[in-house]
Amino acid sequence: MEVKYEPQGPVGRQCQDCKFFEPIKDNPSQGKCFGKDVIAQGTCNVFVFK
Ligand code: SF4
Repeated sequence: MEVKYEPQGPVGRQCQDCKFFEPIKDNPSQGKCFGKDVIAQGTCNVFVFK
């Protein structure tokens, strides 16, 4: 499946709300998702609530 990432996700469905998001310790506005850099406010079609 193709991942459709968007840099600005709707409130409540952002990377920071997703179980795959791993925040970066010194910069919680950014994180990793399956080894890729993502931003906390992003979203994609693979979103899963944590
Ligand atoms: S799966 Fe999608 S919504 Fe979840 S952290 Fe990764 S990019 Fe963000």
